[in-house]
Amino acid sequence: MELLKQRIRQDGEVFGPDVLKVDRFLNHQLDIALLQEIGKEFARRFSDCGVNKILTIEASGIGIAAITAQYFHCPVLFAKKSQSKNIAGEVFSTKVQSFTHGKLYDVIVSKKFLSPADRVLILDDFLANGAALDGLIDLVQQSGATLTGAGIVIEKAFQPGGDRIRARGVRVESLARIAAMDPNSGVTFL
Ligand code: 5GP
Repeated sequence: MELLKQRIRQDGEVFGPDVLKVDRFLNHQLDIALLQEIGKEFARRFSDCGVNKILTIEASGIGIAAITAQYFHCPVLFAKKSQSKNIAGEVFSTKVQSFTHGKLYDVIVSKKFLSPADRVLILDDFLANGAALDGLIDLVQQSGATLTGAGIVIEKAFQPGGDRIRARGVRVESLARIAAMDPNSGVTFL
């Protein structure tokens, strides 16, 4: 998606070998006009899938998912990063290793909101090692819902998550795929 790549070139900041900050438009301040174009592009790519629910993970996925859902006319469910245990068995739960903080945390969704009747599109801001996406896929599988695919805004394709999850047979559509990045030379796209 050319508009997104231009914006990453213009406003993205590379920290060290593998962290891209996009706080000016995606992860802190949100550019709603850009998010609308992102939403339309996801809707175009997954138009044939019968999506009736979008699943994301708090916090950064929520804005992307909420705007995209307007084009699918479906609800958004966001997985919560929880400290608490699955007390009465009322939640699906999985564990995710955080890319940005390194910590392992529990991620939950209520069983009320995911069922075998759902055709789920997973959305997230970044794909790196694939831990967040693995966790969301696990929640969908526990519920018996159908996974239609995953839409990612920025895939760091030099990290292993995208290839590994595609090899599992999951349709992963990324709007910008980064081949390499460096604080001095910036970002190169595939
Ligand atoms: P993964 O689980 O695929 O290793 O990492 C994906 C998650 O980590 C995303 O939900 C995102 O929040 C965060 N993340 C991974 N890489 C980056 C990055 O380069 N920049 C930012 N801002 N977040 C990232």
